[in-house]
Amino acid sequence: MTDNLTFYSGFVVPFVLGTSVLFAVILYKYIRWFTRLPRRDVQKVRRGLFSLATVRAAWECFTECLLHRRIWRVNPLLGYMHTSFALGWALLIVVGWIETVAYLGGRFVPLQGHIFFKVFTSGLEHGPRWGVDFEAVMDLLLLYVLSGVALALFKRLRSRALGMRRTTRLTLGDRVALGSLWFIFPMRLVAESLTSGLHGSGGPITGSLGALLAPVATPGLELAAWWGYSAALGVFFVAMPFSRYMHIFTEVPLIFLRRWGVRSEVREKSFDNFQIEACSRCGLCLDPCQMQRDAGLEQVQSVYFIRDRRYNRLTRRVADTCMMCGRCETRCPVGLELNSLRLNSRHALRNTPAHDRYAYAKLRITNYELRGNTPDKVGYFAGCMTLLSPRILRAMESIFTAAGEDVWWADREGGVCCGRPLKLSGEVDAAREMMRINAEMFTARGLTTLVTSCPICLKVFREDYVLPGIEVLHHSEYIERLIAGGRIALTPGTERFTYHDPCELGRGCGIYEPPRDIVRRMGTLLEPAETREEALCCGSSIAAGGLDKNAVARMGTAVGRVFEQTGAGSVVTACPLCKKAIARGTSLPVADLAEVVERHLAAVK
Ligand code: SF4
Ligand code: SF4
Repeated sequence: MTDNLTFYSGFVVPFVLGTSVLFAVILYKYIRWFTRLPRRDVQKVRRGLFSLATVRAAWECFTECLLHRRIWRVNPLLGYMHTSFALGWALLIVVGWIETVAYLGGRFVPLQGHIFFKVFTSGLEHGPRWGVDFEAVMDLLLLYVLSGVALALFKRLRSRALGMRRTTRLTLGDRVALGSLWFIFPMRLVAESLTSGLHGSGGPITGSLGALLAPVATPGLELAAWWGYSAALGVFFVAMPFSRYMHIFTEVPLIFLRRWGVRSEVREKSFDNFQIEACSRCGLCLDPCQMQRDAGLEQVQSVYFIRDRRYNRLTRRVADTCMMCGRCETRCPVGLELNSLRLNSRHALRNTPAHDRYAYAKLRITNYELRGNTPDKVGYFAGCMTLLSPRILRAMESIFTAAGEDVWWADREGGVCCGRPLKLSGEVDAAREMMRINAEMFTARGLTTLVTSCPICLKVFREDYVLPGIEVLHHSEYIERLIAGGRIALTPGTERFTYHDPCELGRGCGIYEPPRDIVRRMGTLLEPAETREEALCCGSSIAAGGLDKNAVARMGTAVGRVFEQTGAGSVVTACPLCKKAIARGTSLPVADLAEVVERHLAAVK
């Protein structure tokens, strides 16, 4: 009986065509992206391929692409929805394939034979095989996926009920793909039920529904339903590589490449394609964005930036309107390097190398070398923003004096801007020139430690400078060491402080504890509602060239309100820029950590 099965019928055409287009486009994209990887990335792939990283990548694919562990952590309802689609559909394919083998043995079955198994084998005896009631299992899996479809529909209508203030706007490709996706599984249920109704097979769900439909079921209706199912699959597969659903096929290679050490850089490169097309446009990056929730700015958040870059319609406005606070990056379930991508887009849109632009800086270092000073051990780099905050400078001077530290003041003797503002604006070549000049000066000076009060400088010193033998510290880390070494002491008080994590210090450099430890020595520390990795941006980031002053003011006021709600008497931060920005948004006194430490300096016994 099974030898008569041909697995061909007119209704399989949309499915076969859709699948062919899908695989042709994906193959084209993969070949293009992989063959254009730069040589250094290819070397990383070669080194990583036969290492433990490959096993870890495979496990990550299972936990993230099928189980969606990260989405579960952020929002369990969304986690369920994504898992039901991904895991449910994958299991329908795998169990369906096993079912085919169980009934037909090892004979060749074309792809459509597995997909439309129920209708092609409707005349077979459908009892359990190998002790497994496959029809019941497949029905339960179909129900599982359908519950995800229902949740997805509900999310479109009432996103707030699923914990999302905003959902993403759909592109044409997304609309076509999503529309067909919503039909696929309901059509499958109807088609299988009609086949059950006509031929007497089916599991507990399709069988029961089939019995209900039996009075109206006709072969024509059955055929129409299978055509509908096949058409929905075909349309979805054609739209898939041009829509958000391309992430399904891109996240897997992205995970492997990332595990092998490939990363986005300051210049665009082929690897970026994997990151960009792995974005599922889930929209989880929307709600954390203060530009949206406090300043009302739409269509510039990471999901839209990535979308526009993918479809080659990125504008400077979208690329520039972002504080690079990193709040969205910590939420992204795909782990995309959103700041790096935004940076290298800015570079591609703007970089204008001008090699004579920093001649003044070269002059300063030449003059400095001519002075021929003896080597120093500790250098202090205030940075542009601290130079505009003289109270922080004075406080640092008091702290150095109290500790008996003989400090070389980089900004007084030739130091120029750290270069990060230029880098953030996309002028990477000019930034590199700045960095080279500063690095030469630090090295020539013989420093062993470089202290800075500015988290922006700290991040660039740590990530972009080559400073052999020089340890770079934020002033919070340095002050903590002075206290631990008994070189300064602090008097405890009764003040109630709240602490603001600057983006570049917290999410940027992972420094959360040293400032808190110091604050606790001087008074009571009260945490704001969103803190540490979730901390709010002050709103005045130097990365946000595209923001107008009203938007900045609205964000500053919203941040100020959050600190006022803690019941603290004052706000402490550890960044000169944050200090100014927060002070504009609250009536509470705002001080840099160094200033508070200066007030609490005690005589060392
Ligand atoms: S960037 Fe990340 S969080 Fe935002 S839509 Fe894409 S995958 Fe989701
Ligand atoms: S980095 Fe910050 S400002 Fe930029 S899109 Fe993400 S959350 Fe918004």
